[in-house]
Amino acid sequence: MAYQENSKIAEFASFGYPLTGLVAAVLVALALAFCAPLCLAQEMAQGPAPRLAADPHTDPHIAEMIRQVSADHIRQTIEKLVSFQNRSTISAQDEESIKAGKGIGAAREWIKAEFERYSKECGGCLEVKTDTFTEQPGERIPKPTEITNVYAVLRGTDPQQPNRIVLVTGHYDSRNSDTFNGTDPAPGANDDGSGTAVSLECARVLSKAFLSKTSPSRARFPATIIFLTVAGEEQGLNGSKHFAQMAKQQGWKIEGVLNNDIVGGDSSPQQDASVVRVFSEGLPAAASEAEIRRIRTLGGESDSTSRELARYIADVGRSYDAGVKPLLIFRLDRFLRGGDHYSFNQQGFAAVRFTEFREDYNHQHQNVRKDDANVIEYGDLPKFVDFDYVAHVARLNAATLASLASAPAPPASVKMLTKNLENDTTLTWEPSPGAAAYEVVWRATNAADWEYVQKVSSGARATLKVSKDNVIFAVRAVDAAGHRSLPVVPEPER
Ligand SMILES: [Zn+2]
Repeated sequence: MAYQENSKIAEFASFGYPLTGLVAAVLVALALAFCAPLCLAQEMAQGPAPRLAADPHTDPHIAEMIRQVSADHIRQTIEKLVSFQNRSTISAQDEESIKAGKGIGAAREWIKAEFERYSKECGGCLEVKTDTFTEQPGERIPKPTEITNVYAVLRGTDPQQPNRIVLVTGHYDSRNSDTFNGTDPAPGANDDGSGTAVSLECARVLSKAFLSKTSPSRARFPATIIFLTVAGEEQGLNGSKHFAQMAKQQGWKIEGVLNNDIVGGDSSPQQDASVVRVFSEGLPAAASEAEIRRIRTLGGESDSTSRELARYIADVGRSYDAGVKPLLIFRLDRFLRGGDHYSFNQQGFAAVRFTEFREDYNHQHQNVRKDDANVIEYGDLPKFVDFDYVAHVARLNAATLASLASAPAPPASVKMLTKNLENDTTLTWEPSPGAAAYEVVWRATNAADWEYVQKVSSGARATLKVSKDNVIFAVRAVDAAGHRSLPVVPEPER
């Protein structure tokens, strides 16, 4: 359902920006015609005519950045990862195996070297780091095992917002049919060579986006971007759990986590290569009992920070030609499956999961083999991966990271005044560094995505002729170039 609505918006968006008055009028008329009982017509007639929230904003510089994503480079990355034969977290990581190019240790060293290579190409703009810890024996870990996450930091330039972080991740460990097999082939081309390649490709493209001959090391985005690859996913999300806990303990302000896991676009007959699923939690995993009570009272079940991030990705999908459209799934993950975004959700961070539209389970977590009739081919091999599709997903990720890292911080302390019984709605917030204006967005309570937007050119307060009882509001900050922050849903204040 959400997808159908989004795709309608996407079709209209192809008319370009700004929407012509006629198209906007037709859209508003359509919206009004279909929402009859809940309709905001009367209220809207009293106030300034709101624009549609699904009004794409395209930064030509970001559009140019994402054009640099290369399907061929992504293919090379995935084939290299597969060449390590078995990247199980319990596979070899001794010096000799690393030298022989076999096992997770060799994969780890190669990823690190690859980040360092990108950094060299941008005048040392990336800080390449590792996060290593020893996991004690557990259900899928037979003996104490060293686990290493490898990541690169593209430090933000704005001294007023040094801790703002957006993050992209994929897991570089793999598995075959047996969770405890660390030697036989576990190619993991799609699961999750594809996600690892997305993180690496975003690092490559965004690190050199601002390069010029005159200032080779000029720093880039106001906010910080982290390109992460984790291990231990298949043994129980161990790597991401450790990383997210570290981020929480150190007070990192991670605004959004994009977890790419199985984004290979497996070339099975019913695949839909025009979309990528984006999963987001509804009730936050980290919410306390008191917060759950508040969410229940206010009808905030579909407004977790993760879901606002998913809606932001939908907006990016309308603004840039990534080659693939996000299909928002309002659910934490697929049935019986989990992923690294959940580790971040548990620590209270907004995090979503990207996954191809249709998975082929013969090509995941399987020993490489054929069935007795020699018909079905099992195994997660590069030949089942659609490298163009992975490139499209990388473009959508890169555009989202660049948009968020270019935008001002989301407004803080967003409040909705509720002490008087009235039909108008007054919102207040604290100014964001770098914001040139703000936008109040809103939607009907039963709408999946933001529908309307009202610009607030000065001050940090707005009163709208729309009843707070009938819609869901949020406020976002906008800079002079039009980059939008994530929207923040207000807290009611008496
Ligand atoms: Zn996976």
